Amino acid sequence: MIAALNQIPSEAKIKKQLRLIIFGQNVSCPHCRSRRIIVFEKRYRCRRCRKRFSLLSGTWLADMKISLRTMYALLWCWTQRIPVLQTEKLCHLSEKAVRHWFRVFRLHLPQVEAVLEGKVQMDEAYFKNLSLIMAKQVGSKHLAHQMIFKNSVDKTETARFLFHWVKPNSKLQTDGGAMYKKIDQWWQVKHRVDIHKRFEFGLTSEIEGMFGNLRTFIRRMYHHTSPEYLPEYVSEFCVRFSSPEIFSSPNDYLSKTLKPVPTR
Ligand SMILES: [Zn+2]
Repeated sequence: MIAALNQIPSEAKIKKQLRLIIFGQNVSCPHCRSRRIIVFEKRYRCRRCRKRFSLLSGTWLADMKISLRTMYALLWCWTQRIPVLQTEKLCHLSEKAVRHWFRVFRLHLPQVEAVLEGKVQMDEAYFKNLSLIMAKQVGSKHLAHQMIFKNSVDKTETARFLFHWVKPNSKLQTDGGAMYKKIDQWWQVKHRVDIHKRFEFGLTSEIEGMFGNLRTFIRRMYHHTSPEYLPEYVSEFCVRFSSPEIFSSPNDYLSKTLKPVPTR
């Protein structure tokens, strides 16, 4: 049983929210779109095509094995960055179950990355066997990133990242890493370099701040990470940064992710 907390509505209220997100004001048949629906043992039946359906049929919550309130509590914890351990205690679930559901929520996030332009800061971060290239459009919430499945980044990978994510004629700001040497001969950018040995950090401070926040986010929320899930945590972090409105509440998250798939 989930505790009676104000942020976790009653089962009936959650159903009402879900019905509005999935069907709008009027329930219609997901098979033939008819609005002539009868409620039948907590499920729906279409008078026209006679097929039965439920509130969640056709959505990614269709096969849910937990109660609506537990799902909502898990989602509240996840949107609010509550650590896995705290969530286990609040929802009375095992670590495995919490990690499973956090992963389900993460995998249904929309992809929000766009091509960067203007002033762009770019840098790399290194994890055990993985490297991360990330770039940020200065003064904006626009990010682009790519995981490299080895412990270093070379010029080919750097250039390929630019081809995909940075608009020609942008101003590229990096540190003095070897992979950036003469990068402007590979992609049309105006390149400026911070020399960290000379205590110059102004050109790359935003992207370096992002890496600090990323490491803190993973450590606080997920405690530890295996290389298997690291790319997903990085993507989640980037969506949280670029589109914070998705995470304001479970209802905001569900409105943006729970579009029913037509079953015809
Ligand atoms: Zn129908």
